[in-house]
Amino acid sequence: MVDLKSYIREVPDFPTPGVSFKDIGPILASPQHFQKAINGMTVGLCMLSDKGASKIVAIESRGFPLGGTIAYKMCVGLVLARKKGKLPGKTVIASYALEYGSASLEIQDSVISKGDRVWVVDDVLATGGTAFATAELVCQLGGVVDGFAFLLELSFLHGREKLKGYDVFSLMSFDT
Ligand code: AMP
Repeated sequence: MVDLKSYIREVPDFPTPGVSFKDIGPILASPQHFQKAINGMTVGLCMLSDKGASKIVAIESRGFPLGGTIAYKMCVGLVLARKKGKLPGKTVIASYALEYGSASLEIQDSVISKGDRVWVVDDVLATGGTAFATAELVCQLGGVVDGFAFLLELSFLHGREKLKGYDVFSLMSFDT
């Protein structure tokens, strides 16, 4: 029996005091656990939406291995939402507050077209700022977010409220 939750390493006071960092590295490093995580998130996305999204937007950086693998499995395109300054060419940009600090994300304007339906994938839903900013980028390009999938959710930070109106799936939930 593969127990995913026990493979999340909780690191207290990282990267700043008071934050319990949820390290998904042990899940990625175990083929059985990685497969279970990908399969669970894929089923979750399919349950959320039968509208047939054509792309996954994966959020840098731990959203990349998850979103990339789910996109391959579902035969849909992959779009990278990257931290500011990493992408060449014309981009759209959105800034947001984090559980620790603030940041900006960018998407190339050529990779999402008007009317594209997308799913957004990341490792952790904390306050929801990162995911909401990603949805803003998709909207700026004329795309439509069909739903969000996370490996885990920090329920005490109420990120779902920030994503009100969207369908949200998380495979696991932590209350501390
Ligand atoms: P938020 O915008 O507050 O929902 O934060 C989500 C983003 O920050 C995700 O991309 C996560 O990788 C990262 N993150 C925030 N809080 C944590 C945490 N406690 N443990 C691991 N990653 C986190």
